[in-house]
Amino acid sequence: MQIPTNLNLLDIQQDIRNCRLCPRLIEYIHSVGMSKQSKFRQDDYWSRPVPSFGDSKASLLVVGLAPAAHGGNRTGRMFTGDSSGDWLMRAMFETGFANIPNSVSINDGLVLKNAYVTSVVKCAPPNNKPTYNEILNCATHLKKELSVLKGTLKVIVTLGKIALDSYCNLTNNRGLKFRHGGIYSDGDERVLIVSYHPSKRNTNTGLLTWPMWIKIFKKAKSIIDNNPNQV
Ligand code: SF4
Repeated sequence: MQIPTNLNLLDIQQDIRNCRLCPRLIEYIHSVGMSKQSKFRQDDYWSRPVPSFGDSKASLLVVGLAPAAHGGNRTGRMFTGDSSGDWLMRAMFETGFANIPNSVSINDGLVLKNAYVTSVVKCAPPNNKPTYNEILNCATHLKKELSVLKGTLKVIVTLGKIALDSYCNLTNNRGLKFRHGGIYSDGDERVLIVSYHPSKRNTNTGLLTWPMWIKIFKKAKSIIDNNPNQV
């Protein structure tokens, strides 16, 4: 795919909002917004593809899996209005990548600093499981984001195995093993840090603990600040 040289992140975000490439996901996110969770029955669900967001000169890129059905798909912003967003923003705040420690709504005043947040697919999938073709479809958006950010990015944090595999496919990195805390050079003078996803399934079971999680972001920060031995 040829990436236009004048592409910018705002255009990509708009393309994502208007994207309808995956009929199964478009139908699903619409149905979630019609049925709603009882505690959110007063909310108007976004129920469209959820654009990525953050600083257009970011050194840090966080790659998640997908918006949550009652999180990003409800609020219209990634990692917003669910427990994964709580974990992510608290860690980003504590390491200086966000101005507030939580992410509850699109109007909460959150500003990312030197960081950009995206995902493998931009529509919430049933059971958090996008199909191979849906991942392939949405890779067009992620590829464009990587292209626009490539001049400033220093560290990429992937959340979960699908995010790692998708990033590696797009950047022609082969054979990188999924291991929480794994650190790789991505071959383009950028550092790739591998993490578990902060989903409830991982945090509630203790597979991912707070010390394990915050260490990922402290490491990212130390690399960006040219102090990689700090953590
Ligand atoms: S998952 Fe991505 S490619 Fe598929 S419809 Fe949503 S935004 Fe478009």
